[in-house]
Amino acid sequence: MVKKINKENNKTEEVLVTPKEPSEMSTSIVRLECTTCHTNVVTENSFIKFKCPGCGEVEIIRCERCRKSSNIYKCPKCGFEGP
Ligand SMILES: [Zn+2]
Ligand SMILES: [Zn+2]
Repeated sequence: MVKKINKENNKTEEVLVTPKEPSEMSTSIVRLECTTCHTNVVTENSFIKFKCPGCGEVEIIRCERCRKSSNIYKCPKCGFEGP
């Protein structure tokens, strides 16, 4: 479930709405894990998602922790590595 939220603050962001009972709604949960550390970022407040600069097909997801420590990510498809 993706909800567009655009009120109170000016920026529009896509927010994944986490259901109250995750275990019972597991089929509808989109699992997003950090490409580098495989943390499930759905529960995190800030992460970034972008297409791989190498192949442009794979979505690279980075959690805040990996971003702050500039961990290297690696594209599972083309092997592109970046900070
Ligand atoms: Zn990470
Ligand atoms: Zn790639």
